[in-house]
Amino acid sequence: MPAMGILSSVPPPSDRRLALRVTPEAQRALRQGHPWLFDRAIVAQSAAGQPGDLAVIFDERRRFLAIGLYDPASPIRVRILQHGTPAAIDAAFFAGRLAAAAQRRAGLDAQDTSGYRLVHGEGDGLPGLVVDRYDRVLVVKLYSAAWLPHLTAVLEGLAGIAPADWIVLRLSRTMQREPAVLYGLHDGAALAGAALAGPALFRENGLLFEADVLRGQKTGFFLDQRENRAQVEKLAAGKETFNVFAYTGGFSLYAARGGAPAVLSLDSSAPALAAAQRNFALNCHLPGVAAAHCEFLVEDAFTGLARLSQAGRRFDLVVVDPPAFAKQQSEIPAALRSYERLATLALGVLRPGGTLVMASCSSRVSADDFFAAVQRGAARAGRTLHEFDRTGHPIDHPVSFAEGVYLKCLYAQA
Ligand code: SAH
Repeated sequence: MPAMGILSSVPPPSDRRLALRVTPEAQRALRQGHPWLFDRAIVAQSAAGQPGDLAVIFDERRRFLAIGLYDPASPIRVRILQHGTPAAIDAAFFAGRLAAAAQRRAGLDAQDTSGYRLVHGEGDGLPGLVVDRYDRVLVVKLYSAAWLPHLTAVLEGLAGIAPADWIVLRLSRTMQREPAVLYGLHDGAALAGAALAGPALFRENGLLFEADVLRGQKTGFFLDQRENRAQVEKLAAGKETFNVFAYTGGFSLYAARGGAPAVLSLDSSAPALAAAQRNFALNCHLPGVAAAHCEFLVEDAFTGLARLSQAGRRFDLVVVDPPAFAKQQSEIPAALRSYERLATLALGVLRPGGTLVMASCSSRVSADDFFAAVQRGAARAGRTLHEFDRTGHPIDHPVSFAEGVYLKCLYAQA
């Protein structure tokens, strides 16, 4: 059972219900199941609300449209929990949503995978709540203070589906800037159990990895790339591989297990590559991993690619998985130029007939625009891309609305 001590200062869910009326446009969006109601769409509100109050949204004939969690500090004023028919939002409701989320991922255990996203916010009907599982460590990441009064119920529901030795709380950057509404909670707080002495260990498709759930990027690992990594393993036999933006070596290890004779991992973060080396050590009992010649390079990707190309280094398989380049609308043109430039540079180190795997995790860049930018980059490099696959979201990162789509990946020979 979760230790409730740290949550004792958080008030229980209020009995208060806010009633909201919204613009016709927002009504349409809600009828189509959109999970967000923006502040600017509210035309009437029964009372001022506190974070986590339940807000009921009606149409102009006072028919129920949706109910969700109210956050007075967020432009996403209500995160919708239920559309169309009223529901009691209580511990049983959350337990039901969590059980459904666990059910969607039931196949992963059979694939020797104990690290995956257990709850993907909006995609699992729990907007603003993410739960990543690293075997017996759970990371609960909140994007809104509206979740705090409901956190005890969420932890009860989690206890029923994913027994954990340690549950750690992570807070979005926005929440970390709002200490006044956090009731003494903080990023990295233990919600249950005791912190591990070291990183969390977990398996992904039979490979062993560590994740630093307190200091790592995301919640410690890019769980969303599991299926692309598995596909890279299948492509890697006999191929000298270059993993650009390698982080803790996910793609690199799959390539090595898949029979890549040499794997170069590049990242600008020295701690990430140090973890990548430890991840190789964790899997050195595997023949492919033991046999692969591994190099690690701490360098900027753009500089490193240009330098290696100049130096005549060439590879048969190049994986390019950069960070999100466009965090806001105004950054989209620059992001597209960066993708184009990266594709050109990556092809500069790819042997003729080699394979390029290139991903984008910028939700503001559409799949079509991303693929077009990669094509422009190829043209600039004087290479023709023969695409053989495009992939999107893995099963543990389901998407339910357009703004939630972020991951796309292109596979091509060039
Ligand atoms: N492919 C990885 C995830 C990559 S995340 C995996 O499967 O786990 C993006 C990575 O890019 C991060 O590790 C970050 O440290 C690194 N990064 C960001 N900007 C960079 C740059 N300019 N050059 C090289 N690495 C960079």
